[in-house]
Amino acid sequence: MICPACHSNSSSLEVKNPKDVEYFSERKVDSSFMKCNRCASLFQHPWPSAEELGTLYPEDYQNYTRKDIALLSRFVDMQNRAVARNFVKTFGQNISVLDFGCGDGRFLQSLHEEGLKDLVGYEPHMRGDGVYSNAGYVLATDLPAIQDKSFDIIRMNHVIEHLSSVDDTMRSLANLLAPGGKILVQTPNPDTLTRKIFKKFWGALHYPYHTVLFTPEGMKAGAARWSLRVSSVQGSAMPTGWSMSLENILKTATKSKRRGRLPIYGFLAMGGMAINIMEKALVPKRTAILDYVLEAGQ
Ligand SMILES: [Zn+2]
Repeated sequence: MICPACHSNSSSLEVKNPKDVEYFSERKVDSSFMKCNRCASLFQHPWPSAEELGTLYPEDYQNYTRKDIALLSRFVDMQNRAVARNFVKTFGQNISVLDFGCGDGRFLQSLHEEGLKDLVGYEPHMRGDGVYSNAGYVLATDLPAIQDKSFDIIRMNHVIEHLSSVDDTMRSLANLLAPGGKILVQTPNPDTLTRKIFKKFWGALHYPYHTVLFTPEGMKAGAARWSLRVSSVQGSAMPTGWSMSLENILKTATKSKRRGRLPIYGFLAMGGMAINIMEKALVPKRTAILDYVLEAGQ
């Protein structure tokens, strides 16, 4: 088996037969998370095909517009707006943006509210109850539909870790960059304290949906293959390393069959956020979630 991040063929078993206590999906084959002996990225073995992955996502997958988790839904909205404001401050309004894996399109909607006009969302797993219809952007459900455009910014927010064809997808996206364009990747980082503490319960394993979890070293190796380079790595203020891991432990201990988030999750997220802010200050490149900027060039 080959590490999808750095292509080393040497790896060790990390978690055997992981369990999904969020939606209770299972692969039909026995599977594990392996850890690359060279770059320490984690990846599923056997590697799932795009077809298989497509069958694993349930209808209610991470649907944060549900009324029974109104607090979380408001939090996600607030966070989107804050990130969108910051985004406009950094990049200005006169840019073209592709949100690759845009989910229900909330982030694009927030960018639209901030005055951006050239917005495209790509989402292969659309659901009927999102906010698509409210937003001022173009939505594509297949990649060929956007092949003749180019973008100043391509955003991949918690997307790269879900891919099956990692190299093909990243090369296609690199080709869609306008001169000087950037790909913004936010993704979990296995080189972090919570992975070591929580092991098989680590929230970011998110089996079977996460196929690969890049370390910064793994991302650097991948970027070189995609004719890109990592121009920035930053720790991110996201509580999930703590809150999703603790929720996994709670659900496992109580044999909970509840789908998705527990009602207590809002409190776990608040506590996780407080610890995460300290982590970001103390070990800025070892938080559970990292923000990468990828640009053209080696
Ligand atoms: Zn590797």
